[in-house]
Amino acid sequence: MNDKHLENKGLTRRHFLKVGATGVALAGLGALPVAAADAPTPAPAPLKLPRRRYGRTGMEISAIVGASDWSADVIPMAVESGVNYWHKAHRWTTETMPDAIKSQPREAYHLEVVVDRVGGDNKTGHIDEEQHYQFVKKAVARSGVGYYDVFKFHFGYHSVEEAKTNLGVIRAYDRLKKEGLVKHLAISQHHYKDINGDMAFDIVAYLMDHSPFEAAQFFHTYGDNQEITDVIHLAKEKDFGVIAMKTMGGVGRAATDKKFQALLADPKYAGSSPATAMVKWLMSNPSLTAAVIATKNFDQLQENVKAAQESTMGYNDRENLKLLAGFNKGMTCLLCAQCVSHCPEHIAIADILRYERYALDYQELSRARAEYKTLTKDGTACIACGDCMPACRADINIIAKLKEVHNLLG
Ligand code: SF4
Ligand code: SF4
Repeated sequence: MNDKHLENKGLTRRHFLKVGATGVALAGLGALPVAAADAPTPAPAPLKLPRRRYGRTGMEISAIVGASDWSADVIPMAVESGVNYWHKAHRWTTETMPDAIKSQPREAYHLEVVVDRVGGDNKTGHIDEEQHYQFVKKAVARSGVGYYDVFKFHFGYHSVEEAKTNLGVIRAYDRLKKEGLVKHLAISQHHYKDINGDMAFDIVAYLMDHSPFEAAQFFHTYGDNQEITDVIHLAKEKDFGVIAMKTMGGVGRAATDKKFQALLADPKYAGSSPATAMVKWLMSNPSLTAAVIATKNFDQLQENVKAAQESTMGYNDRENLKLLAGFNKGMTCLLCAQCVSHCPEHIAIADILRYERYALDYQELSRARAEYKTLTKDGTACIACGDCMPACRADINIIAKLKEVHNLLG
């Protein structure tokens, strides 16, 4: 994309590079730095993301949240567009934290520290108050940020029972909060039926009423099962923040599928795209606080911000989503985990297909392969009994799919 095209969209890449290089404190006040040599026309006002209350935290966060793995040239533009919440911010150190963020007053942006189980992965690792406490303390010291706005328990509890009885995370949070190193408590919750645990929506529903947790993050994409939609609405009623993740199911693979792209030539899809429609669909749910949307480059961010700002779905957006849903049928996993409890081999089907999403929808093949390698049982453990398949709302031939994914990632 050249600058001419970007100008047509109201922004230029150079504009953002300049903002990135000089810091965004001025930009946040609406005064954009413009070099004398190429100025006479002031840059148009950038599109701004809407903000929503993140449940009981009381924070007003951008409807699209940023992530520490976004590329260095996207982050200044994101700040300029109003992104003020940064997922996995603990990965930044004093040296690597982007100037575009740290040049603002500290209260202008919100940083999240993500705390994993220790001594294993999300299924085999355990909760350890002291290690969680030390992890955050070290991250604060390493980053120089002073404090993290949100302590996020990553991957979450295995079951409601564990949430009731194991208070290690909450105790670590309480200690850190007393020391002023964190302010709020949230959870990123996965499903654990494959290890005889509970579904994310049951665990989150419990936490809304029985704990100091103030917000949650979980999988949510178009075509999800009703329980996810219900828990999002319940959260809104209870002033519990919700961030949707793994939102763009099938969008990446549709973008590289020639047949799908040819279908998009029909005028009824004009003016929208599966990605734009998905963003608008997410944003049109008033019960949802925000969404994590994988963003690789300037163009994607620009389109996502524009869609989030418009938010209302048109006929063309609805048609795009219908087309995407048809394309996904039998192919793209919704990560609903309804199949996993039926597997006599305890294969983590939904995790395996999540890694496929990384490879095909985010174009992150190395990450997908690295994650696939960590599985105790990979796709080759499937005995082709077929017990899981009736449970799949996406009509995926799981036996064939596991073979395909193994060929891709194994
Ligand atoms: S077909 Fe494979 S994945 Fe499905 S239940 Fe049987 S062993 Fe498990
Ligand atoms: S394979 Fe089907 S049932 Fe299993 S997680 Fe994916 S969409 Fe859900």
